[in-house]
Amino acid sequence: SETELNRLAERLPAWLETSRKESRHGQPASYIPELAHAPGDALGIALLDAAGREVTAGDSRLSFTLQSISKVFTLLLALMDQGEEGVFRKVGMEPTGDDFNSMLKLELVEPGIPFNPLINAGAIVVSSLIRGATSAEKTERILSFFRELAGDPTLTFSEAVYRSEAATAHRNRSLAYFLKDNEVLDEEVEPVLDVYFKHCSVEVTCRHVARMALVLAMNGTDPLTGRELVPRRYVQIAKTFMVSCGMYNASGEFAIRVGLPAKSGVSGGILALVPGQYGIGVVGPALNDKGNSIAGVHLLQTMSEAFDWSMF
Ligand code: GLU
Repeated sequence: SETELNRLAERLPAWLETSRKESRHGQPASYIPELAHAPGDALGIALLDAAGREVTAGDSRLSFTLQSISKVFTLLLALMDQGEEGVFRKVGMEPTGDDFNSMLKLELVEPGIPFNPLINAGAIVVSSLIRGATSAEKTERILSFFRELAGDPTLTFSEAVYRSEAATAHRNRSLAYFLKDNEVLDEEVEPVLDVYFKHCSVEVTCRHVARMALVLAMNGTDPLTGRELVPRRYVQIAKTFMVSCGMYNASGEFAIRVGLPAKSGVSGGILALVPGQYGIGVVGPALNDKGNSIAGVHLLQTMSEAFDWSMF
C-alpha cells in the first residue's frame, strides 16, 4: 500500500546502513575470478509495486550479474517451450540440502536426473531445454525474454564474467559430462554450457531484478504494461522452487526468518517478492558461508519482520 511504501521509504536508509555492517563477516565469491572484484561493502536495494512506485536505497545502481537468479527465468522459458511434462522428465522437484554445485546427490532421483532446476546440474539441463537450433539462438531467446521481464531492451551479458566463468568452470563441465553420460543431456555439452554461462552472466542492477520479481509477484503479468509474460501455473512452479531451494541449503532458514519466495546468486544478488504486492532486488556481494548475500539477507529479514511479510 502507499502508506506502507512511505513508511518503508522513510526507514529503509537507516536499516540498510545497519545491514551493510554485516558485510564485514563475509566476502565476495572468488571461484569465478571476475566476481572477486566486486565491492565487498556494497549494499543496494530496489522495491517496486504494481502501480510503478519505486523505493531504492544504498548502492541501487551497482551492476552485477544475475548468476543463479537467472535459473528461475530459464526454468520459466523451458516450461513455456516444453511444458511441465517435458521439463520434469529431465529434472526433479526436490530440494537437496547440498551445496549448489554438489555432485553427491545428483543421481539419487531417477538415475542421473538432477534433484531440482535450481542446482547447477538441474539448471544446465534446463538450458538444454530452451528452444533454438543453435546455442546462439537459445541465448538470443533467453536474452529477449529477460529484456521483456526487466523492461529494458538494452540488457545483455557481461563478456568479462562470461569468459571468466567459461575458463574456470571445471566442476560445471564435469557435471555436464556426467549428465551427458547418463543421457539426461540430449545435446552436445559445450554448446549447452555456453548458453548456461551466458544467462548467468547477464548484467543488471537491483532495479532490473525488482521489475523481474514484480512480474512473479503478479503471477506472470507485468502490471506496468498489462502484458501476460508467463502463464500463472509456471510462475506458481517457480515460486515453489524458490521457497524450497532458492537460497541454497539455507532455504529452510530463510523461509523461517523471512518467509518470502526468493532466489540468490553468487554475485550477491537476491530476487525476492511479496506476493501480490512487491518485487524486490537486492545486491550485496559479500557472501555468508551458505553462499547468500550476508547483508542482503539481513536487510530482507529486517523488512519482513517490520511489515509482517512472511507468507507462513
Ligand atoms: N554461474 C554460477 C555457477 O555456475 C552460478 C552459481 C550461483 O549463482 O549459484 O557456478
